[in-house]
Amino acid sequence: MLHPQSNRAAPLPIRRTGLDRQTPFSFSCMRCLQCCQAKKIQVNPYEIARLARNLSISTTQCIARYTTENGSYLKFDDENRCIFLGPQGCHVHADRPLVCRLYPLGRHRNERGEEWFSEIEPEAGCQGKYDREPGAVENWLDDQEVHRYLQAADNYLKLLWEMMALLEQGGNDEEGAEEADRAGTEEKSLFENGEWMDMDAAVRIFCTQRALPFPLDVEDKMRMHHDALQFWIQQS
Ligand code: SF4
Ligand code: SF4
Repeated sequence: MLHPQSNRAAPLPIRRTGLDRQTPFSFSCMRCLQCCQAKKIQVNPYEIARLARNLSISTTQCIARYTTENGSYLKFDDENRCIFLGPQGCHVHADRPLVCRLYPLGRHRNERGEEWFSEIEPEAGCQGKYDREPGAVENWLDDQEVHRYLQAADNYLKLLWEMMALLEQGGNDEEGAEEADRAGTEEKSLFENGEWMDMDAAVRIFCTQRALPFPLDVEDKMRMHHDALQFWIQQS
């Protein structure tokens, strides 16, 4: 699953799995906010860029203030509530991450590009209503406006696999490791430190190297981030 749903000692059980986009599914969220607590919300650079835009800050600031593990997960407070959860609900609702949009579904995708969904047992106290309207998983994806998020998740996952293969190869290959050391580039430190997750920082390096203007639109910036990562992976 791209986005683990929970970091509880005992994760919420799965009701059904192997669902595809045509599988009947219908759910109405009542916004009771129970599911914004006691979770581990994984995010990718696109999701961070959307949050950063929502908050009018850079991705560098967003990662430092609101995430853990170099921008891999949203922070939760001492009461185990998401850092974006307020009395009126989610502060960043329009740009909430994919996992929040999909819930109570989770999406899986393997290296062959096969996709399937699971339906997670709802939170204790969840006020959501099932089966009010006829519908299918595809309708839920449309309603939650996830298509750009899904595309971004797939693209970053592919890049992540390539980076992991590269680092593994470097670690196992002495000659390759020496070569990498000699290169000593900013890009390599981005990979090794996990700083590649910081879209603004990575794109700024890429733009500076090529005397390109820094893109302001999130979708344009993400495309340049992909280009930069792909280029650096190929160069390594
Ligand atoms: S717990 Fe259920 S009803 Fe409440 S916000 Fe989450 S999905 Fe919606
Ligand atoms: S980002 Fe918003 S929807 Fe997602 S867990 Fe946090 S408060 Fe809830």
